[in-house]
Amino acid sequence: MLFIGTSAGEAIPNPFCRCRVCENARKVGGREIRTRSSFMLDNKNVIDLGADYLTQAFLRGITLDGVENVIFTHMHSDHICYNFLWERHVRGEGGDHPLHVWLSEEGYHFFTDVYLKQKWIGGDGAYCKDVTFHPLKFGETVQIGDYTATPLRGNHRTEFDKNSTNYLLEKGDMRLYYALDSGYFLEETFAALAGKKLTTLVMECTNPYTDKPRASEKSPHNDLFLCLRTLDRLYESEAITADTAIYLSHISPFGVTHAELCDYVTGLDKPYRIHVAYDGLEI
Ligand SMILES: [Zn+2]
Ligand SMILES: [Zn+2]
Ligand SMILES: [Zn+2]
Repeated sequence: MLFIGTSAGEAIPNPFCRCRVCENARKVGGREIRTRSSFMLDNKNVIDLGADYLTQAFLRGITLDGVENVIFTHMHSDHICYNFLWERHVRGEGGDHPLHVWLSEEGYHFFTDVYLKQKWIGGDGAYCKDVTFHPLKFGETVQIGDYTATPLRGNHRTEFDKNSTNYLLEKGDMRLYYALDSGYFLEETFAALAGKKLTTLVMECTNPYTDKPRASEKSPHNDLFLCLRTLDRLYESEAITADTAIYLSHISPFGVTHAELCDYVTGLDKPYRIHVAYDGLEI
């Protein structure tokens, strides 16, 4: 599995921003640079193709012609770049298998009723002819490629609140929960994950402040303190264990640098271990 991108909507550095974290990223480079979040499960399955997907692909030497399933978390532009359908359609050569796009029911209606009706994208939608869109109901398990997938509702209080989707993906012994733009987990989510003993958890830590809490249970995004509260509860209910590989992702410049965040989580006295994801991290 590969973290293609690990930033929030702004990316780091945000070209318009001269804050300490963005300036540090310009100077230091490497893991301090974050592009918009996207995650490759394997060559056939990817979660989110966002605003940076095309540049990420050539910078990381990734080809997507083998991709059979694109799973979307929601319709914010840092997570979905609608052009990917057109770019795939105009390829000269490459995989000719059909493409499956998975998204919440609400996301599906946004895609088909709003986006695909726009004349400026080509009208007849020819580039969708071998693409199947699958609207998902929260809590109903489906098979996506080799993965048993259960979409759970996020708590992302924005214009896309209703289509925010986190995914429990199970394959063999692997149990991954991918929770970007989750906000503080809903009670139904804590209940659904209890006892799961996840092998991997990817969670949003959009605002990694280490001094004091900024976010609440009603915020659209987690800060670091909300992440820790969530993790404590998940550990109590055995949704996660000491063996769960926990990765913070979807990180904005509002907080500390990558190096500072790594130091902070390493110094925590918790029964679980947290890692800070970075662009290009393979797990
Ligand atoms: Zn986002
Ligand atoms: Zn900045
Ligand atoms: Zn979002």
